[in-house]
Amino acid sequence: MHSPTNPSDLHSIPVQFVKGIGPKKSVLLEQAGIRTVEDLLFHVPRRYIDRTTVLSIAQLREETLAGAHGTAQGGRDARGAELRREFTVIGEVRSFRVLGFGAKSRFLLILADRTGSLQCVWFGGVQYWKKMFRIGETLAVSGEPGMYGAMLQFAHPDIDRFAPPGEGEDGSAATQWVDALNTGGLVPMYPSGQDLARAGLDSGGFRRVIAGAWKTYGNIVPEILPRSITDARGLVSARAALQSVHRPASGTDLREGLRRLKYEEFFRFQIKLAMKRRTMREESGGIAFGVKSALARRLVDTLPFTLTRAQVKVVQEITSDMASPRVMNRLLQGDVGSGKTVVALLAMLIAVDNGYQSVFMAPTELLAEQHFRTLRRLLGDSPVSIRLLVGAQKSALRRDLLEDIRRGTVQIIVGTHALFEKNVAFARLGFVVIDEQHRFGVVQRATLRSKGANPDVLVMTATPIPRTLSLTLYGDLDVSVIDELPRDRKPVTTVLKSDADMSSVASFVREQVRAGRQAYFVYPLIEESEKLDLKAATVHYNRLQREVFPDLRLGLIHGRLAGEERDAVMERFTRGAIDILVATTVIEVGIDVSNATVMVIENAERFGLSQLHQLRGRVGRGSDRSFCILVAKGWIAGRVGRGAARGTALADDQQLLAERRLAAMVATTDGFRIAETDLQLRGPGDFFGTRQSGIPEFKIADILADALLLDEARADALAIVEGDPHLGKAEHRSLLSYLRSRYHDEMKLIDVG
Ligand code: ADP
Ligand code: MG
Repeated sequence: MHSPTNPSDLHSIPVQFVKGIGPKKSVLLEQAGIRTVEDLLFHVPRRYIDRTTVLSIAQLREETLAGAHGTAQGGRDARGAELRREFTVIGEVRSFRVLGFGAKSRFLLILADRTGSLQCVWFGGVQYWKKMFRIGETLAVSGEPGMYGAMLQFAHPDIDRFAPPGEGEDGSAATQWVDALNTGGLVPMYPSGQDLARAGLDSGGFRRVIAGAWKTYGNIVPEILPRSITDARGLVSARAALQSVHRPASGTDLREGLRRLKYEEFFRFQIKLAMKRRTMREESGGIAFGVKSALARRLVDTLPFTLTRAQVKVVQEITSDMASPRVMNRLLQGDVGSGKTVVALLAMLIAVDNGYQSVFMAPTELLAEQHFRTLRRLLGDSPVSIRLLVGAQKSALRRDLLEDIRRGTVQIIVGTHALFEKNVAFARLGFVVIDEQHRFGVVQRATLRSKGANPDVLVMTATPIPRTLSLTLYGDLDVSVIDELPRDRKPVTTVLKSDADMSSVASFVREQVRAGRQAYFVYPLIEESEKLDLKAATVHYNRLQREVFPDLRLGLIHGRLAGEERDAVMERFTRGAIDILVATTVIEVGIDVSNATVMVIENAERFGLSQLHQLRGRVGRGSDRSFCILVAKGWIAGRVGRGAARGTALADDQQLLAERRLAAMVATTDGFRIAETDLQLRGPGDFFGTRQSGIPEFKIADILADALLLDEARADALAIVEGDPHLGKAEHRSLLSYLRSRYHDEMKLIDVG
């Protein structure tokens, strides 16, 4: 546990310092990500209940009999959720008692004011409630009223206790309410969880402890935003914002508070990226490559195609980075089939020509093998020495390979993240390509440095990331985009078929094969277990071969096939000795056979949208017209066909999502539009596989809904770092101390005097 090194930094004060939070609660809070007083104060309500309306008991009875109880719509609150209106009455406790026995017991309390009486009932917990009240004390009670026979009743209402009779009952209702947490306004409802609620930290519990924390620490909430920003963006202070969010005075007040907190959440993230980017830019010791390269020239000359304009532009961006002594950190984005591999290879060859080694890192061994094959093919008879390093290799071979890497006789090494394990030593590592980065996060520069080098890094992704998002997530990288497909490409025709139409699908595939083309049949991973998955693929394969295409040559490929077997199958497919390749999703990325023009995806409703798009990217790689046939359960296909997928209350969410994915696939082949739809359907966390990806989870703000605010925060953060790279100005002092207290040790990035 950390101790409060700086008593005024809420981030260094453990949450158990707050009144009412003992060791047990603090453990639970910690599990929920709330470790410090700051975390607690930034634990923002999920929604609010409008309890502004205080009625007499007689009025409440009228409202309830008129059927207006509780569900009255109070409009929408600032977080977009529906704001439920509830009623509050203030009365005196007349009597209370326990009714029934054991599990069936309930606690009944009669409350009265000058106009009438009502009952409050709690099922369970009677021992607790019995000790809670005193006859004659005044309570404010809120909830959704109902009629129990002729009796007006609140079940499990929220209660605020007033000062006991005789003690300061002189004030008006308004002044008495100063300490009321549960009534008399917009009442916050906090995110909690079963364990927290059981330990007393339900919404009411959070209201209490947050109010307690606020009393002690509310006056030392730091203001990390410089005045220039809060003025320019019209933002209220951090302190005012927190107050508004936990105890909103009005809807407007709440909106202003939330806007400020969302902005701050984005800003904190953006300023970190901006400082990181600055540090990397100032970093010395990068390699200044000579970019005139005979090997690269030779590759361009021997390619069977000319580079697209977009490829040329990106190569220029990369080579100008390489020529500079600054270390390169560049993200290369491009849709499937846009030709990223050849661009990466050109850059690797430049490094090789400068006497350095290049590394190409793939997310899986299978992909590493495929990239290895592709690169070797592109290199043709070029004298460059390229090798594959994967775990499956025999130890003698591996030892030799490691030795060659260490001595520098290997120039390009393809592999997985195993390339950066301790036992791999490079003679002269100069350039690193990382493919599909979102799957395993960014390789730490420190790891690369430990290899005795400060290589240039090119990160490639085929997941087209919506622009706002890429700026957010990769704000510390420079971004290049290949926004054009090779000219000979024809968009893949995508159709959705019902599984009842399989025979027409089969005859279409047969036609294509007769015309000299090849096809894929892909099945989803149905079971979690690879063994069962393999069985499913094998069953499909046997059925297709025996019953559907007895006259054609079929091959089977799946994740459990050993490397050599897989190679053999792939080699036969590439050479045209197999007409139809039956596969599980192992072919998702990287397989490249331009004569294959048909992609049949069975049980398409089970695939994710990006996955479907990647699979579709396996065809349409040559100049022939290509097809992607999505086969889904009959009724799903029917609904998508009729446009029913736009939304219906009947379908359960999973089905509705599946329908939307399929509809998107049919509607467009544009990877960026696919990615945006995918992002909307899945939400940012899931889209990137959350944690491993290093993508921040914003608690208050929403990357999609608050995109505008995100842009502003980013622009502001960049401007600040541009104008004051070391945050030395007086107006940035509290920002600097914020960054120092968070990141000084952890990142060693903010090294300012
Ligand atoms: P990505 O990795 O971006 O999905 P690839 O690099 O695998 O795309 O390229 C897809 C296919 O297009 C490969 O067969 C590649 O050789 C080919 N290709 C690359 N650039 C061009 C181009 N400018 N013109 C025609 N074909 C190209
Ligand atoms: Mg590729």
